[in-house]
Amino acid sequence: MKYNLKTVFLTAMATAGIMFGSKAADVIVPPAAHNAEHSDLIAGQLNIGNQIKVQDTEAFLGNLFPEEQEPEMDIYEEGWNSQAVNCYTGVAVPDMATIDVTNFHMPTDPTYMTSPYGYRRRFRRMHKGVDLHIQVGDTIYAAFDGKVRIVRNQGRRQGYGLYVVIRHTNELETVYGHLSKFLVQPNDYVKAGDPIALGGNTGFSTGPHLHFETRYMGYAINPSAIFDFNNHTTHTDTYTFTKSTYMNARDYTPDKAMYAQENAAPAKAKAKATSAGGAKYYTVRRGDTLSRIAARHSTTVSAICRLNGLSTSSRLSVGKKIRLK
Ligand SMILES: [Zn+2]
Repeated sequence: MKYNLKTVFLTAMATAGIMFGSKAADVIVPPAAHNAEHSDLIAGQLNIGNQIKVQDTEAFLGNLFPEEQEPEMDIYEEGWNSQAVNCYTGVAVPDMATIDVTNFHMPTDPTYMTSPYGYRRRFRRMHKGVDLHIQVGDTIYAAFDGKVRIVRNQGRRQGYGLYVVIRHTNELETVYGHLSKFLVQPNDYVKAGDPIALGGNTGFSTGPHLHFETRYMGYAINPSAIFDFNNHTTHTDTYTFTKSTYMNARDYTPDKAMYAQENAAPAKAKAKATSAGGAKYYTVRRGDTLSRIAARHSTTVSAICRLNGLSTSSRLSVGKKIRLK
């Protein structure tokens, strides 16, 4: 009787597309005190139909583009081809998901947005979060309950500077950038509203602010779609994620999205005009990377990115023509 019930249960789970992993239970052995929270996390992850493995991204991120000074690099896109970095790479993302955002806390004390989520013409890239005005030293709070995944210093003048990534029990992840001091460590469990850091001006930042991102399985969701930053609340109790809405934002490279569209017609004329001015092109070969091409042609990765509307993490397809000069 007992056996039958179990079989029925497992079959039902399998039918519902839920992976029944002994993996999660085997791999993560939390301290006893955290058992409750741990169960919550695992239970939350089961709902999305895929086990997500929390992987250590520290070593990889540490070696990425150390010479680059990109504004607000996308830490999820860095090493996009590597299973080890974006732990969501290769994981099937549901077309739609309902995310419970009732138990929230604003990431900052009352403040205002200085820069919204969206495309930045100046940098030819997406701004995948919002910037919130703060003073250096202001307390930054966990937006939801969860577990700290990354605590890292990307460099004083680079990218996000000091940043924290938290994976929440509601399956969202939040990113907090340009911090001045950490108040948490990797694998700490936090409650919504727990102080996690002090705000700052580290990384590629021109003034004190908090760069705040909300992610669902790597997709950058517009934080303003969830939070009402003016009224310091959330818009609704649940946020409905639809993959189609964020498809471009996740896999965004300016050359294949709106940048290409924008320049489609006058492209030929432009190429002619620039080649007269000494433009130099290169056709991507198998095994090429931006840094290898840059080194071989005595230029820099950022110069190539600027000329071609690429980000340092853009995928180079064989046969693609890129401008070097
Ligand atoms: Zn920002």
